[in-house]
Amino acid sequence: MEQYDIVILGGGIAGLTAAVYGVRAGLKTLVLEKNTCGGLANWAIEIENFPSHEKIGGQDLMTRIKSQALNLGVEIREIIEVEGIQLEGRSKEIKTDDGIFYSKTIIVASGREPIPLSIMVDSDHIHYCAICDGTAYRGKDVLVVGGGNSGVCDALYLLNQGVGGITLIEQMDRLFAAKVSQEALLARPEVNVMTSTEVCGLTVDGDSHRVTLRNTQTAARQEIEVRGIFVYIGQVPHTSLFKGILELDEQGYIQADETMHTNLEGVFVAGDVRRKKYRQLTTAMNDGTIAALEAEEYIHKNARMTK
Ligand SMILES: Cc1cc2nc3c(=O)[nH]c(=O)nc-3n(C[C@H](O)[C@H](O)[C@H](O)COP(=O)(O)OP(=O)(O)OC[C@H]3O[C@@H](n4cnc5c(N)ncnc54)[C@H](O)[C@@H]3O)c2cc1C
Repeated sequence: MEQYDIVILGGGIAGLTAAVYGVRAGLKTLVLEKNTCGGLANWAIEIENFPSHEKIGGQDLMTRIKSQALNLGVEIREIIEVEGIQLEGRSKEIKTDDGIFYSKTIIVASGREPIPLSIMVDSDHIHYCAICDGTAYRGKDVLVVGGGNSGVCDALYLLNQGVGGITLIEQMDRLFAAKVSQEALLARPEVNVMTSTEVCGLTVDGDSHRVTLRNTQTAARQEIEVRGIFVYIGQVPHTSLFKGILELDEQGYIQADETMHTNLEGVFVAGDVRRKKYRQLTTAMNDGTIAALEAEEYIHKNARMTK
């Protein structure tokens, strides 16, 4: 039987930050990662808003954090599938394809993933985060796919970053972003909004991306040329394991207050999988830090009570 103080589900930046804090508090800490560690940050070609590095590749950053955690004594198991979980009571049980683990606390840091464009074309110029990748497109034309809050807000962000022109397309017959954001976007002459429109083809030639757009009502097609594509057709939090167990919001994100406590004692949440407004590396680290410190306090409180 393998017994831990903290088991962390997810080896992204939230989970690895929590692990560093956990092990430094003298707690036996295990990270279970279903792929290899790094999470979404591995997708970031170049990160320019991480304090301490003017520029750093996402994979480079995450390799450093993982190696720091390992050197401190965190146990990490990768490519592991969680098959079942029991979160009630003082001893939590995690069943995996590599054995059963028991822990006093659990930190859920399982993140989320953007829904990718269904057109499978390999390109470094397809992005899912304007804050992360927008500055590379100053003076250049881009396509934004998705007319919800994320698409419209990131389009406004791209305009503030000085992109040349934006074509924003939405599959449905209207935009879904907040009215005030829509109005701000539509007031900008550099923006062409096309509703009832979807991407149906893409040809990449060097930096140039020729996108075929299709009108979903008339089936009429047209081609546009852009340098980059920003995709906002939804995100899926990795919370299917927790349905009916943890309190989730209507989109499946885990509910917690600023102390990262979930509705179950000894179960904490950190990072993008938590319901919150800003999802960035720094905010995920913030969550991971707090979750580990709260887990430590919870463990010590229970130990005092059982003496
Ligand atoms: C392309 C791109 C570029 C970005 N660039 C920037 C940037 O420049 N600056 C910035 O601040 N932010 C950036 N972001 C956002 C940032 O990467 C995320 O906010 C951050 O990585 C979230 O960290 P996380 O640990 O909460 O989740 P994740 O990074 O998603 O990590 C979660 C981990 O949990 C694992 N997992 C999921 N389910 C399970 C399970 N059941 N069991 C075990 N493991 C599981 C996943 O495999 C994953 O490794 C970018 C995002 C993208 C997509």
